[in-house]
Amino acid sequence: MENKDQENQRNKLIAPLLLELKQGCRNRAVVRGLDRFMVDHLGAPSFGASAEWETFRRDFAQYATMSLEERKQLVLKTMERLRSHSTDGETKRPGDAPPDLETLIPLEKKRAFRKTGIRTWREVLWFPPKWVLTGKEVCTLAQAAKLPREVFLLVCLGSVREAHRSRQGVLKVEISDDSARGFWVWFNRPYLRQELKPGRWVLIRGKAEKTPWGLQVLGQTGGYEWLSEAEKDILQKGSPPLVFYASTPTLDQKFWRMLVQNILPMAQKDRERISSFYTGETKRLRDAFVQVHRPRSLREYENARKRLAYEEVLMLQLFLKWKKKELEKTKKERTYVLDSPKMESWLKSLPFSLTRAQKKALEEIRADLKRPWPMNRLLQGDVGSGKTLIAAASLFYAVDSGHQAVLLAPTEILAQQHFETLEKWSKPLGISIELLTGECKAAGRKAVLERLKTGRLQLLVGTHAVLEKDVVFERLGMVVIDERHKFGVRQRLQLERKGRWPDSLMMTATPFPRALILTEYGDTDLSVLDELPPGRKAVLTRWLPETQKQAAYEKVRERILAGEKAYLVYPVLQEGNVKRKSALEMYRFLQQGFFHGFKIGLIHGRMKSEEKKEIMESFRRGVFSLLVATSVIEVGLDVPEATCMVVENADRFGLAQLHQLRGRIGRGEKQSYCFLIGSSWMTPEGRARLETLCHVQDGFRLAEEDLKLRGPGEILGWAQTGFFTGKFLDLFRDKDILEAAQREAEEILMEDPDLQKHPQLQQEFHRRFSDVLSVVHAS
Ligand code: ADP
Ligand code: MG
Repeated sequence: MENKDQENQRNKLIAPLLLELKQGCRNRAVVRGLDRFMVDHLGAPSFGASAEWETFRRDFAQYATMSLEERKQLVLKTMERLRSHSTDGETKRPGDAPPDLETLIPLEKKRAFRKTGIRTWREVLWFPPKWVLTGKEVCTLAQAAKLPREVFLLVCLGSVREAHRSRQGVLKVEISDDSARGFWVWFNRPYLRQELKPGRWVLIRGKAEKTPWGLQVLGQTGGYEWLSEAEKDILQKGSPPLVFYASTPTLDQKFWRMLVQNILPMAQKDRERISSFYTGETKRLRDAFVQVHRPRSLREYENARKRLAYEEVLMLQLFLKWKKKELEKTKKERTYVLDSPKMESWLKSLPFSLTRAQKKALEEIRADLKRPWPMNRLLQGDVGSGKTLIAAASLFYAVDSGHQAVLLAPTEILAQQHFETLEKWSKPLGISIELLTGECKAAGRKAVLERLKTGRLQLLVGTHAVLEKDVVFERLGMVVIDERHKFGVRQRLQLERKGRWPDSLMMTATPFPRALILTEYGDTDLSVLDELPPGRKAVLTRWLPETQKQAAYEKVRERILAGEKAYLVYPVLQEGNVKRKSALEMYRFLQQGFFHGFKIGLIHGRMKSEEKKEIMESFRRGVFSLLVATSVIEVGLDVPEATCMVVENADRFGLAQLHQLRGRIGRGEKQSYCFLIGSSWMTPEGRARLETLCHVQDGFRLAEEDLKLRGPGEILGWAQTGFFTGKFLDLFRDKDILEAAQREAEEILMEDPDLQKHPQLQQEFHRRFSDVLSVVHAS
């Protein structure tokens, strides 16, 4: 019950708020500023501490940085709340029923908002800030020039110069802080011109570099935010932290802050479970939401972020464990013959002996196959470590034991290659095998599907096309997915449901850190190929600026004349509307120029698969020894005689992709060479990536380096698609919570397998996984 004192307290606040409104919200209704007045009063013990008043208090702490409109909203909302309290205590008040999110989005922003994919107000709470800054993170220009990495800069704009350089429009804006002056340089962004007004404050995430014309910060890097005078003061003063969201011109900071401010009070009404496993400082989710979006200090933010990360991991673990239980309930109806003389002699007939790592992985797989429940294994091995062989053995064991098997690959070229390898290897075993891709002719496709359905076809290799509904197996027992990270969870489930919980082997060269595997693959066993076949030499890697790429071509010519093969990779890059060099253009150019008289092949993604197949075959057979390609060749290709690669505009690729590309060479015993050509306008990060590749070969170490270059939280660039990714989870700082969440998930499911007793968890579970669940239930 409210006491009289508290009611009086509340009434006292209404008058100044009214006055503030009348004066147009200029923060003057009280002598020392309305904001301080409100912060003090709302925080007083006699006011009656509650989480809801706490959100109001925090909002007032930011009052000085708000626009007039935001201030007005806040004042109105506070008055409404104070009044509803003083008239009838704890009973009904406006806003109790959760409003539709739609009503909170201004009409003119609805379209842009739809693109964010956020559908409910609860999802807004789970929308993470992009930066939380107290000003300490901000570097002066002078300091920044000495640091090799991206930093935050808080600078004031000066005059703008426009120039043109090789068909690109250049905007050069003077910037300065107390320590130095410099330039902020933008290419091809003419529309920015009107935003770049002298005297404007801007927060830039970027790297300052010394150039002959002074300090320079490139525009297209880590992002920037315009700051109001008040926000700038807060950053310089250092408290409270300023929160920034990923914004667009339409959905700007003001929009996000206002939206969050309107939604935070709703979360305060949630009844919630207190986790006894979570040991961090912030216990309640509803507090965590407030502290993440309106933190009083960085420490508070960090505590709250961790709490939210914990919830994310918990949900994921609930899902994985639930799925695993479902799996274990289903006893598999298959058995395997693992010691047939046929298989034994096949393994002996291979042209090489297995590496120690391959032997171990194979043993682990054989042990899985003997168990009464389905195999669920991830095979992780760097590019070139020989995963295909393990895939082949698994598929052959299945077929040899009377089951059907399927291999899924992400690109047609790779599927084609696997098909050829498996066809060759399986000949002595007398296995029937077919290839199915999106480009198969209708008649051929029909025949394949017919044989598959009746069980006459034993092994199918293919691309996404094998996921189609009409691809039906008679007795699918084994599923292998190559380059697993290129597929989504949904696709994996689509494939698996074609059998009755088949055994499955996932393969990837992506060096997920162990912590990620625990989280994303909580239900999976792991085999690692941590050694390359003998005789491999490290690929000599160099990066060259555009102007010196002749040197790379010369090396390529030398190696080709010596009978080896080379890839020239020309990514098609869309930059604004400017298309960079396409493979086709380069093909023509090289044919007439540097490699005149050589036979050159061209391959790109838009070719028909017949064509691609022919080109790859000719390249393999040596009809031509130079292949101009787009990044379609990125994954999986295996032509051991290829020893050279030149990657144009290499700085535009991520480390993971470059590592995959480079993995196409160095697959035989000869020395291989990789040349990374930087584009003429390289960002510092782009250059740092190229330098890293020059001295790091190993995928695991590259992932670590990548982390340093990107900063934590962005490691998922290695995963890209196909995983549930936590938005608040930071795998490298949150290792401690992973295990606790696993244990809690286990405990919850043990007592309450359908989450009947945990309605909120159940709701959240369905919100997050409904699409995947529908696939699982359908099978
Ligand atoms: P990835 O792991 O990148 O898929 P692949 O399976 O394509 O690697 O293997 C790379 C190359 O190494 C292939 O040419 C393959 O035939 C060869 N290879 C695989 N295992 C061995 C081995 N134990 N000894 C020698 N060469 C091997
Ligand atoms: Mg491979």
